[in-house]
Amino acid sequence: MKGKKQFIKICPKCGNIDIPVKTGFIEMLAPVPEKCRKCSYTGLFPEIDISEVEEFRRDLKR
Ligand SMILES: [Zn+2]
Repeated sequence: MKGKKQFIKICPKCGNIDIPVKTGFIEMLAPVPEKCRKCSYTGLFPEIDISEVEEFRRDLKR
C-alpha cells in the first residue's frame, strides 16, 4: 500500500522507535523532554517516514 505517509519519531542514537508520544494537555503548556526507553537518550528526535526506518538504522550501525 502506497500513498499514505506515516511519520514516526526515531531515536538518533539507537534507532528505537518506541518513543513516548506526548498527548497530554499539560505537556502543551510545559513540554516534557522525550526520552528513549532503550538508551535513555533525551533531546530532539527526528521524525522520519515509517518506510525509512530500516534505512535510518542501517546508517546508525556504520
Ligand atoms: Zn535510543
